[in-house]
Amino acid sequence: MTTSANSTVSADSTGSGDSTENGGPIVNTQAPLPELASVLSPDALVTDRDVIDSYSSDKALFCPAGAALALVRAANIDDVAAVMRFAAEHRVPVVTQGARTGLSGAANAVDGAILLNVAKLDAILDIDEVDQTCRVQPGVINQDLKHALAEHGLSYPPDPGSVAISTIGGNVATNAGGMCCVKYGVTKDYVRALTVVLADGTVTKLGRQTAKGVAGLDLAALFIGSEGTLGVIVEITLGLKPLLALPVTGVGIFPDMESAGRTVSAYMASGAAPSMLELMDGATVAMVNAYGDFGLPDEAGALLLVQSDAPGASGVAELESFQTIAEEQGASEVFFSDDPADSELFVAARRAVSPALEKYVSTIGGGELIDDVCVPRSRLGEFFARLAEIDARHTVEVSTAGHAGDGNMHPSVLFDASDEASVAEAKETFAEIMQLGLDLGGTITGEHGVGYLKRDWLVRELDAGARSLQDGIKTAVDPLGILNPGKMLG
Ligand SMILES: Cc1cc2nc3c(=O)[nH]c(=O)nc-3n(C[C@H](O)[C@H](O)[C@H](O)COP(=O)(O)OP(=O)(O)OC[C@H]3O[C@@H](n4cnc5c(N)ncnc54)[C@H](O)[C@@H]3O)c2cc1C
Repeated sequence: MTTSANSTVSADSTGSGDSTENGGPIVNTQAPLPELASVLSPDALVTDRDVIDSYSSDKALFCPAGAALALVRAANIDDVAAVMRFAAEHRVPVVTQGARTGLSGAANAVDGAILLNVAKLDAILDIDEVDQTCRVQPGVINQDLKHALAEHGLSYPPDPGSVAISTIGGNVATNAGGMCCVKYGVTKDYVRALTVVLADGTVTKLGRQTAKGVAGLDLAALFIGSEGTLGVIVEITLGLKPLLALPVTGVGIFPDMESAGRTVSAYMASGAAPSMLELMDGATVAMVNAYGDFGLPDEAGALLLVQSDAPGASGVAELESFQTIAEEQGASEVFFSDDPADSELFVAARRAVSPALEKYVSTIGGGELIDDVCVPRSRLGEFFARLAEIDARHTVEVSTAGHAGDGNMHPSVLFDASDEASVAEAKETFAEIMQLGLDLGGTITGEHGVGYLKRDWLVRELDAGARSLQDGIKTAVDPLGILNPGKMLG
């Protein structure tokens, strides 16, 4: 039997009774873990309660984490397949995990589950300069892959804010986005093939290695964004781009969000192809300034960060066009620079939003609910006007940043997590923002996923036909309902 240090598999550690907590199926919490340990790599199975608990949550607030039966830190694909065969035989739920940086509770434990962590499968298997592809294991950190590809003159553009800490497997399972998506698309635009372990332990290859291919249904696409509900991704082939050129970076300062929103719509309608178009409201700018010295103007009502990586003089021309449009829409100041040090500083300021918010909320009671609605960018001005009305109706604070070029905004509801009334109002505000997204023809989640946090809202977004198709596919692929039960599809 193999377990972590100081851990033993005992009657206690196998638990007792059945469970339906967190919306999952009735599960067997008396599964014989020693049997599982005997077919896994040494030290892969962990039954130490403290270690299991430390792996039981992602970064989302207000998402319950159940009491998992065990943690498996898979060392190879055989471990993953063995876990799934065991889980199917003994009706044990399985929650697959990468780096647990998710913001929807999708990687949280459910009662009686095996937490199947694949972060140790972190090898870059192949980089092909001719085909411009790479093959990687799911635990490779996005930033590490970018560094490795750069040595071959290649790039993998998707760049979630968690680029330095999240895994490619997690990125695929959530179809992660980021700042460059306005020009370079999201994770799904790069995935060519996946090796997946299915619910019964079968290992199968989906998709294709080639640039084109239409043989049969696109099953790889089905697994992208499936949040661990259809299978475990154990290998990924990505299509790549040549190394991206250094960008010219500009900043526009606006008196309010509406004028910034109008600028985004008008600039994109002009045929511009910025490689980044990000927005922060005035409250966010103030928090970032309080967090670090990024030189952002304190008096900004809103700030747009724009980049162009178009070759030669075209990059500067794109930003000159941005300047003209921004000033027409009421910008008080627009400046840009082709100095890489300036670019890095401004992008660092945008990436500092998350820790800056964390620092700020620590002074008001620690509550932060990050929303992720995406609306047609033509409706951003309306979105901001109605968001301001929502903010004014509530005593909790709302601060907004996001990927404006894609219409994908992250209004954060900031509140006192120790005060029940404040928590209740925060949840109400959060819900009103999702409803606003739907009212404007948008979606409840542009990139963070549904997980546990938004599962009740998924049913509002999908019509009856789409819901029935989703349920039917889930049942066909995972007939026992053991893969991440209670998440996304409820
Ligand atoms: C500071 C910060 C900034 C962020 N910025 C962005 C952003 O800009 N854009 C964005 O899209 N997201 C962002 N996120 C959210 C998060 O980082 C992404 O969702 C990321 O893709 C999750 O990767 P992970 O490895 O942490 O996966 P986890 O959190 O471990 O898992 C996420 C989901 O994927 C499933 N999963 C993980 N690995 C596999 C696998 N190998 N096979 C099958 N299912 C799997 C899990 O079951 C779960 O449902 C941010 C998070 C933080 C903390």
